[in-house]
Amino acid sequence: MLNGQTPIGRVFLVGAGPGDPDLLTLRAARLVMNAGLIVHDGLVDPEILAMAKPDARMICVAKRRSRHTMPQEDINALLVHEALAGNDVVRLKGGDPFIFGRGGEEAEACRAAGVQVDVVPGITSALGAAAAAQIPLTHRSSASIVSFVAGQCKGLTDQNWAGLAGKGRTLVVFMGVATAPAIAEKLIADGLAPDVPVAVIENATRAAMRVLRGPLAQLPDLVVRERVKSPALIVIGDVAARPEQELRALALEVTE
Ligand code: SAH
Repeated sequence: MLNGQTPIGRVFLVGAGPGDPDLLTLRAARLVMNAGLIVHDGLVDPEILAMAKPDARMICVAKRRSRHTMPQEDINALLVHEALAGNDVVRLKGGDPFIFGRGGEEAEACRAAGVQVDVVPGITSALGAAAAAQIPLTHRSSASIVSFVAGQCKGLTDQNWAGLAGKGRTLVVFMGVATAPAIAEKLIADGLAPDVPVAVIENATRAAMRVLRGPLAQLPDLVVRERVKSPALIVIGDVAARPEQELRALALEVTE
């Protein structure tokens, strides 16, 4: 309490995980169930939002590619404004708040305004998708390095991804559906073999999940042919290859 005024609220930057509500942390679930105000983005599953109290105030600040409903500065300002007005804010974000979630910027804005921020990690979609598709991102025999990159960012072509993909390495691309042709071209130009296995995981951990596979050179075709939509992740590396059993089943289908 400052000079008898309303006490300042706190902001909780909370990771909502990849989709399936069972993948929320206990801390995230508790915060969602007790929240008076939830500010969430478009990736948060409706089932998770349904866990909130019926009288909780819900503000959607959904961001979709090239259709930003609320600029980041306005989201930052909203969090600060609500906290200064005395409200605790649960800021729910898909996956983990600090993996391509702009959580860093929101935390900075709050701190700059003197608002206390707590960060609750979430299962990033990269880990959720890998588990759901049974793709081990590291594997003793085929991958000892894993990297996360953004396929949709300022100056994609200027980003130096050399060395992030290839033998013994797994590359996970977030936000790469729209830029799939540029991504395949860039990696092949960097020296990656065109037949490196790729898996595209759409709607990971949700009922509508799809796992599509093919060689890197065919990634752009795969995305168009299968009408892949966001949210989807692209996993590039030997670990993304079709499992042995599936290959054997396919071979049987062909010979029958
Ligand atoms: N903070 C989030 C990432 C936000 S960027 C996290 O940690 O997961 C948004 C991108 O995340 C999407 O474009 C997509 O590449 C990926 N993504 C998020 N949820 C996903 C899901 N359920 N299935 C597949 N990809 C997902």
